[in-house]
Amino acid sequence: AANITLSGVTKAYDSDTTVIPPMDVELGAGEFTVVLGPSGCGKSTLLQMIAGLERVSGGAIAFGDREVQDLEPKHRGCAMVFQNYALYPHMSVFDNIAYSLKVSGMAKAERIERVGAVAKMLGLSDYLARKPGQLSGGQRQRVAIGRAIVREPGVLLFDEPLSNLDAQLRHDMRVELAELHRRIGATTVFVTHDQVEAMTLADRILILNKGRIEQFDTPKAIYHHP
Ligand code: ADP
Ligand code: ADP
Repeated sequence: AANITLSGVTKAYDSDTTVIPPMDVELGAGEFTVVLGPSGCGKSTLLQMIAGLERVSGGAIAFGDREVQDLEPKHRGCAMVFQNYALYPHMSVFDNIAYSLKVSGMAKAERIERVGAVAKMLGLSDYLARKPGQLSGGQRQRVAIGRAIVREPGVLLFDEPLSNLDAQLRHDMRVELAELHRRIGATTVFVTHDQVEAMTLADRILILNKGRIEQFDTPKAIYHHP
């Protein structure tokens, strides 16, 4: 895993509205950062610029010492999990998870081994032949997570991945995600507007307000200061 450094990163979708004024921040290698803030404050914009799905308007983003702001998403070594799962509906769970390995030319035996290991980690071993339409919401989100981690990305990005799940499942998935992060150690950026998710998952919480960093500290420092 590598640290993520934003240096003077700005974003304006049009000439008269700046969504992110110049931002400087470093997210530690292997850390779990939760980006928290109200709707419209720029959380998704920030995540999409790290992923390469939106261009920066100015400044630089580096993973370790490698500047990535001009690289396409697939060349950044990062993977993203979306709120709406974004699975291929006509493909089995196995093929959904294996897809990027197949595209990258990995041999079949190794693909089977990799997908098997990821499925085991996520409790999906019995569901590999199913189509996404035959799964519950929680199972679908596990498949989306499996698809993201199967290539062992150094940077793992989550855009409100739990907000479509019911309360019990959100709780269970928080526990699973924390455990998963301990096991794989990717530098993780997780966007949410849910304070409980931020407190339970984050090594550090980055609170955004109108595109500006209002606080960037441990959950303890943010919620338990005297
Ligand atoms: P959040 O994820 O915190 O809800 P967003 O990053 O989605 O916030 O949006 C931040 C601001 O940028 C909002 O004012 C939103 O309307 C605007 N915005 C987001 N995406 C676009 C876009 N593609 N074109 C124009 N404005 C956008
Ligand atoms: P939930 O898991 O949210 O209760 P369902 O009530 O749709 O979801 O399904 C109950 C169980 O049956 C789930 O484990 C689901 O994955 C499984 N299931 C759903 N559709 C099929 C199917 N066509 N074939 C086999 N199993 C299925």
